[in-house]
Amino acid sequence: MTDKTRNAGNLKLLGGRLCLDFINTLDWRGTETPVEFLNTYPDLLAWSRHVGICTPSETRRMTEMAKGCQAEARRVCKRAVALRETIYRIFVAINQNKNPAPKDLAEFNQYLSGALKASQIIRAKDGYSWNTAGDKARLDWVLNPVIRSAADVLVSDDTKNIKACADPACGWLFLDSSRNKRRRWCDMQDCGNRAKASRFYRKKIRQG
Ligand SMILES: [Zn+2]
Repeated sequence: MTDKTRNAGNLKLLGGRLCLDFINTLDWRGTETPVEFLNTYPDLLAWSRHVGICTPSETRRMTEMAKGCQAEARRVCKRAVALRETIYRIFVAINQNKNPAPKDLAEFNQYLSGALKASQIIRAKDGYSWNTAGDKARLDWVLNPVIRSAADVLVSDDTKNIKACADPACGWLFLDSSRNKRRRWCDMQDCGNRAKASRFYRKKIRQG
């Protein structure tokens, strides 16, 4: 049953990396009725606020801006979902020890070159850091940190520890940072407990 209280602005952040949390804005991927949390540009903003890409005042400013260009806002939301699915396919291939489709990598590289064009190195407290936000007059700048996160994960050792939730219906991905690398569930409280409960139920039926 779909939990109506969950939305893009309060989803659990269990991926361990920004790009994986972004992938997890689609729930129940392995079922015939996946649940989409990025249906509108305001959903994308709510998620961006939730994960800290936007400050509250930026979120308000972007909300106002989007009202003035609704067709563009719809386009950016579609682009966000297309980006998410491209990243998802790449990481699932890696998780299954397969090579990502060249088309997906090429597509991702297109997103990446856009994000890099909007990126700068800026002076930070203890050195330098990336500012990937770029032109904040554009509605799609909120995607840049996600694209950068995916690029960072792809060139790191993290790729070895990307896992898919053991419940194939769930479809969430996460970085397994546990010491023994035996994390199976996106959320022990949720998918883990559900599996435990259904094992218990099946056992009870068998015992009749
Ligand atoms: Zn799960």
